[in-house]
Amino acid sequence: MSGKLSGYDETIVALATAPGVGAIAVIRLSGPEAITISNRLFPSRDLEQQASHTLHVGSIVADGKVIDEVVVSLFKGPRSYTGENVVELSCHGSPYIQQQLIDACIHAGARMAKPGEFTLRAFLNGKLDLAQAESVADLIASHSAASHQTAMQQMRGGFSRELQDLREQLIRFSALIELELDFSQEDVEFADRTQLYALIKTAMEVVKHLADSFKMGNVIKNGVNTAIVGKPNAGKSTLLNTLLNENRAIVSDIAGTTRDTIEEVLNIQGILFRLIDTAGIRDSVDTIESIGVQKTLEKIKEAGVVIYLFDVNELSVEDIRQQIVAFEQDGINHLLVGNKTDLLGESAIQEKFRDIPGILFISARNHNHIDDLKNQLVQKVMSGDINTEATIVTNARHYAALQSVLQSLMDVKQGMDTGLPGDLLSLDIRRCLHYLGEITGEITNEDQLDFIFSKFCIGK
Ligand code: GDP
Repeated sequence: MSGKLSGYDETIVALATAPGVGAIAVIRLSGPEAITISNRLFPSRDLEQQASHTLHVGSIVADGKVIDEVVVSLFKGPRSYTGENVVELSCHGSPYIQQQLIDACIHAGARMAKPGEFTLRAFLNGKLDLAQAESVADLIASHSAASHQTAMQQMRGGFSRELQDLREQLIRFSALIELELDFSQEDVEFADRTQLYALIKTAMEVVKHLADSFKMGNVIKNGVNTAIVGKPNAGKSTLLNTLLNENRAIVSDIAGTTRDTIEEVLNIQGILFRLIDTAGIRDSVDTIESIGVQKTLEKIKEAGVVIYLFDVNELSVEDIRQQIVAFEQDGINHLLVGNKTDLLGESAIQEKFRDIPGILFISARNHNHIDDLKNQLVQKVMSGDINTEATIVTNARHYAALQSVLQSLMDVKQGMDTGLPGDLLSLDIRRCLHYLGEITGEITNEDQLDFIFSKFCIGK
């Protein structure tokens, strides 16, 4: 990490709040000179002499001119977010003042921070591990209660603790096995094989559980591609409006939302359902084969759900059967919803469709059973209960590393089953340790750090 460390004796500055006009903006400085630099601009008090974690009101003066009245928050390292000296200047939120203040700080000796550099420094100073640092980015980007909860949970280290524990136990075993190698003439066994075997099996369960949670994590973090499909006049627009009335999410703020493919986003029980290309499908639906909107279906296959809406008065049991076969052939996660129950009456409907289980009957126009629909939608995309207190993997990098951990654990187990010699067994354990360390950041390389932190915004 030596290259990455260059430039870390410098003091960095950036706007920490969102750019644009606001009541207040915060300019953040971090580094060895943070207090000295602020002192040059803040004549009313000698900040070097003040205690950590204190606030000071006064003017910022540059070139003999007062730029603004600010509140200075003082954090002396290592008791700060980055572990370095940190000063935050809370100023009036005009873009002009913000720029003037940043310029004044740069003039006084700071340099502009790179994206994620504050958090990177926190990581390098041991304030956060890598998984925690990454969850800071997720926390900032969270758009729903569920994604906020999981990011918060990870930032507090929930996930890292489990892995660190495993890693320590494995390190102990690999040390013992390696010790055996030094005594190879004497046929001794320091590492209890039964215990190791039990540890490997537990580790596999823990890791598999975490890896499996990724599907759910992805749903929580990125939302679910959703399409309402069905024949013309089935009531799709009516249903969409009914759902939107209560659950519309603010689309423009959601990252990765392309206006071409996503029309609306619903927030149901903290999960974002992205209604994709519904117009395109709406016009061309007859049976699912003739939809011809393959790209949309591909997206839905990956992680998503189709609401198949039909008019209970129009479609026959045979029509629905064909539709189910088509969905199943394509491996599409679907919800069958019969609409316009108000026209036929509950008992007649139950009778008509009694041979097909799992249909949900609603009246989109009369708002009947819409809550059931929402519950079933959430159940369709979450395996089991949504428990955001549990440890959930949301990060693709962690997922990939967990897969590698699992593979090497399986290799260790297989090696033990076939009586693999200690030196080879120890290689497999080392490989496993390597991947575990990649997640929490015990093992990092410069490219990886650059990649991870470049996705942050400047000022974080
Ligand atoms: P789309 O073509 O699938 O988007 O269908 P629309 O939402 O435009 O609805 C077609 C017609 O069915 C409209 O006249 C709606 O008012 C009517 N409709 C929709 N939902 C219901 C319902 O639950 N009950 C009844 N009776 N009519 C409905």
